[in-house]
Amino acid sequence: MIKRILLIGLTFIFSLSIGCSYRSALSKADWETEGFEHYEYHYQQTIQLSGRDIEEIGDRLEYFYDFASDVWGFGDDRKITYYYFTSRDEVKRLAGIDMNGKVILEENIVLSIHGSDAHEVAHIFTTPTERPLRLANFWMEGIAMYYTWPKLYYSEGEERLYERPLGAWHGCSVHQNAKKLLEEKKLPKLESLIYGNEDFGYLDSDISYPAAGSYVTFLIGEAHSDLESVTKYREFINKANKADSTESVKSIFLEVFDTKFENTIIGWKEFLSGWDEEKLYEVKLK
Ligand SMILES: [Zn+2]
Repeated sequence: MIKRILLIGLTFIFSLSIGCSYRSALSKADWETEGFEHYEYHYQQTIQLSGRDIEEIGDRLEYFYDFASDVWGFGDDRKITYYYFTSRDEVKRLAGIDMNGKVILEENIVLSIHGSDAHEVAHIFTTPTERPLRLANFWMEGIAMYYTWPKLYYSEGEERLYERPLGAWHGCSVHQNAKKLLEEKKLPKLESLIYGNEDFGYLDSDISYPAAGSYVTFLIGEAHSDLESVTKYREFINKANKADSTESVKSIFLEVFDTKFENTIIGWKEFLSGWDEEKLYEVKLK
């Protein structure tokens, strides 16, 4: 079987502040609607999902909700409103956004060209709720990439790559992407990304996203394997959201993780050097 590319949408956090509500704008289009326990699920009629497809999507989304929401203290009683689009062109036509996926935090809305997009749902769970939102995109995209597991995605089917709960980017794990960048001397200096978004936005997303995802996964352990570190990460990003400089982010990092940020970079690069992507495929897809 040819392993094709898992296309994870290029996504950014988006906070709606003024103008019309996305909810009301999108409600004017024609949608098929399903109710899941924690999601109000809309999909374009042209997608033509079968009952079994719907069931599978609901299972994946609810699995992810159960796995991740409590850990992040997600206490919003509202359902997540999910819009599944046929294509990026349709996202642009109906929502006016030229992206594969997006989350509108204040309205608990996910827009995606994927039937079950864990990356976007992860933004809803993990983004600090305090405003203004000042946390660097590096930390927010890093934790969303942490959850970008191929096995949670629909409708990639045979493109699900590997079973292990590890983030993927364009057909390889985040670690394999970062290892390649390291070998090609293209791995960015993370220090310039941990406060503010200028450098993160300047970088090619094929560099910034997998690098952030790989580093965060290294820092806190794959798929909640080290729950204490995940809790620390949550504490860290809530505090770092108030930081006013790179130095203050570093000092919050030291306070929460009890180690210097620079030390973790050394450990991460050593880890990448020894990364063996082939081992990911030792567990067969079901
Ligand atoms: Zn994202």
